[in-house]
Amino acid sequence: MVSLQYIGHSAFYIKTGDYGILIDPFITGNPKAVFDLKNNKITDIFVTHGHSDHLGDAIPLSKSLNAPICTIFELASYCMSKGAAAQGINMGGKIEYPWGSARFLPAFHSSSTPEGFYAGMPASILFEINGIKIYHAGDTCLHAEMKTAGEVYRPDIALLPIGSHYTMGVNDAINAAQWLNAKHIIPMHYNTFDLINADTDYFKLKIEELGKKCTVLYCGESIKINE
Ligand code: ZN
Repeated sequence: MVSLQYIGHSAFYIKTGDYGILIDPFITGNPKAVFDLKNNKITDIFVTHGHSDHLGDAIPLSKSLNAPICTIFELASYCMSKGAAAQGINMGGKIEYPWGSARFLPAFHSSSTPEGFYAGMPASILFEINGIKIYHAGDTCLHAEMKTAGEVYRPDIALLPIGSHYTMGVNDAINAAQWLNAKHIIPMHYNTFDLINADTDYFKLKIEELGKKCTVLYCGESIKINE
């Protein structure tokens, strides 16, 4: 059984067997985040880029839970300098895990450490778990590499930012859903604060008009994804 929980913003928790995968864990300081840190096992942490609303609690959680962080090389070096266990990867790289694999792909954004220093390129991450491919876009605008990802990797599920201002908004995310060839779309990175408010009803309607499934998750909601 593979379950996907939306924590809030761009943070997700994937549970598969004895493994727990945490992505972009912005929990502390996120008023909307819902996640039970005490009763969910975390074995691996992934971070798409260095901004504080994505790096979030990754470093303290990595240290307290002994869970390695996998992220872009420069950001991994930063995490290690803060005492966390981290593995650095770069674009196109794929890491195998007992639960599947993670491949880092390009996102079009910026990335800096909480102190404002260069943190390498921002990334999207393609997970493959039990044969299900989940594309976490990270923060990004619509970009043509998504067509490549759709053609070459054909993700089943795409987690796409829709809040605009710092990322693509609803209309570009509708194009992204098509370019990625994903059957199931889940929006993220919206409504955490006023600057990134988005109309999820409109987004869902437009995605469904394309013949795709769209699930708008509330913070803390889990779905089974081994379909
Ligand atoms: Zn960002």
